[in-house]
Amino acid sequence: MNKLSAPRGTFDILPEQAAKRAHVDRVAAELLEGAGYGRIETPSFEATEVFSRGVGEATDIVQKEMYSFHDDGGRSLTLRPEGTAPVCRAYVEHGMHKLPLPVRLYYLSSFFRAERPQAGRYRQFWQLGIEALGSDEPEVDAETIVLLATILRRLGVAAVRLRLSSLGSPDVRAAYREDLGNYLREHAGRLAPAVRERIELNPLRAFDSSDPVTRQVMAGAPVLLERLGGEDAAHFAEVRGLLERAGVVYEIDPTLVRGLDYYTRTLFEFTSDALGAQSGVGGGGRYDGLVEQLGGVPTPGIGWAAGIERILMAAGEMPIEVRPPDVYLAFEGSPSNAFETLTSAREAGLAAQMELAGRSLKGQQKQAERLGARYFAVVEGDRVRLRDLRAGTEETVARAALVDRLVAV
Ligand code: ATP
Ligand code: MG
Repeated sequence: MNKLSAPRGTFDILPEQAAKRAHVDRVAAELLEGAGYGRIETPSFEATEVFSRGVGEATDIVQKEMYSFHDDGGRSLTLRPEGTAPVCRAYVEHGMHKLPLPVRLYYLSSFFRAERPQAGRYRQFWQLGIEALGSDEPEVDAETIVLLATILRRLGVAAVRLRLSSLGSPDVRAAYREDLGNYLREHAGRLAPAVRERIELNPLRAFDSSDPVTRQVMAGAPVLLERLGGEDAAHFAEVRGLLERAGVVYEIDPTLVRGLDYYTRTLFEFTSDALGAQSGVGGGGRYDGLVEQLGGVPTPGIGWAAGIERILMAAGEMPIEVRPPDVYLAFEGSPSNAFETLTSAREAGLAAQMELAGRSLKGQQKQAERLGARYFAVVEGDRVRLRDLRAGTEETVARAALVDRLVAV
């Protein structure tokens, strides 16, 4: 028979890895909940339209990275490739615009993209993300960026860099797109084929190309950041000022381009020089047109998503918080007394384990030591020989008194 294995581009999360992820979850939840963010979990799949409308037809994600399938009713569904569109769909569906604004939500969920697997790039991966809906104040932009910077710092993510830009409002961006398209068509002969093919669909992506000749061409391309109108420029200046006040170091990168079609104004990306080619740790931006695009009332919004696997790769050692047993219940012969005591120990809130593998008494103590148990309790009828593995002392107690004795420690 063929050996079964996890599908290409996916992985199992075994307990040691799960403990590291739990730490990431705790650090993020503590900061975000303290900042007024509530957790949200949307379904793992959505109507395909949520993404074609919410991420944008012209994006890499919708063009080539979605796992889509049809259900029995012939409806097209898609495994979620990202979290912003589903959260905005939920915002509209539940009438959250009636809640006190801004509505702030966060998630830590898995996402699916049909990509070529490589280090730091998977077909099912995890993202931590936040969305703040209902305010276009620059403080919200700055706050979201500072929150991600703080989480990365608290998790010990190494060599982090923040790049920042602004896309302005949709009309400025549309006019710019036109000009950039003209520029690219003028230089089409020197562009990489993949870039040339997408001049009409998504000209901004040309800034992402790694082809050296294309990069030369792009060095002379018109720059959107230089064309921001008065309000957009003032908004961007305020965001920058607030980040400086918060001590967040950033680089302005006018060539920054990101996945979503509906990004407006602030755009940012965190990278880590500790990672290889897949250096993006997390990024996001403002998307003031998205909720309306999904059928809601016009609602400004901003958010980011950060990749958990890349955080773990760039973070080095992570504290693993496993609770060692308070007591390991050992026995010879019948397990029933030990089992009864196990149950009452757990009822009393103790971390308790009992022998389940038929080891000799000596083997049972070894196992208790391996687990880092504080007490090794040999249940002998109604008496217990209680060994304090830390102090190396032993006493005999009545089995009925054991739990109280341990709770009092
Ligand atoms: P990239 O340029 O690496 O493809 P992206 O722009 O597609 O990233 P986003 O959609 O902004 O990434 O997702 C936010 C973060 O999620 C990324 O910065 C990265 O850390 C992580 N991420 C994205 N795609 C994957 C993937 N296929 N596997 C693992 N992590 C991913
Ligand atoms: Mg990508």
